Amino acid sequence: MSMVLTASLGHIRRRIAAAGPGRDVRLVAVSKLKPADAVIALADQGQRHFGENYVQEGVAKIAAAGRADLVWHLIGPLQSNKCALAARHFDWVETIDRIKLLPLLANARPPERGALNVLVQVNVDAEATKAGAAPDDALALCDAVAGYPALALRGLMAIPDPAASPQARARSFATMRALFETAVRRYSPIDTLSMGMSDDFEEAIRAGATEVRIGSLLFGPRSP
Ligand SMILES: *Cc1c(COP(=O)(O)O)cnc(C)c1O
Repeated sequence: MSMVLTASLGHIRRRIAAAGPGRDVRLVAVSKLKPADAVIALADQGQRHFGENYVQEGVAKIAAAGRADLVWHLIGPLQSNKCALAARHFDWVETIDRIKLLPLLANARPPERGALNVLVQVNVDAEATKAGAAPDDALALCDAVAGYPALALRGLMAIPDPAASPQARARSFATMRALFETAVRRYSPIDTLSMGMSDDFEEAIRAGATEVRIGSLLFGPRSP
């Protein structure tokens, strides 16, 4: 771990609390491309939620970490042929971007694990290379999730364009918050707006995020 570029868990928790006073903002520690040892080190400090981008890497790490008290979020793009594996091993899937994934996840979810928590991913800046539903289609996707008892709709997720200007990023966060508020009015159990990463998590929290996903700030830079 690079001691120069990483911040301690406690320091990040204090920054999260300061950006959203009185709110309970969930920290998902993004452990992609980092070993299970790094997960266990943070878990020993009380961190519970972890995020992985790649289904197979995540499944292997869940097994290697071997801790039943951790909660695992899939935050990377999901291919149809990985849905069954994801539904069996993860607790959350944050990247629902098309209806086709829903029956594949629902049918593979082991009943004894309870409903799989899902977020609809919104491609808020309409980036050609990024997954996610168009903002106008997100609520229809939420409607579709509600038809599967094996899936629990928990909210929305977005990754704003990292190259956008600060003003454009603020607009993207505001668009997501408005969409989230509409979704909350429509589907009462919704409680999660997942946005904000190492470089912008405080701004995301001030804009209404209830969950931030932080990787490099906690674990150090990832090798390309
Ligand atoms: C990698 C990743 C993160 C964490 O990014 P950092 O900048 O390292 O904090 C968050 N969300 C998603 C979807 C990611 O792929």
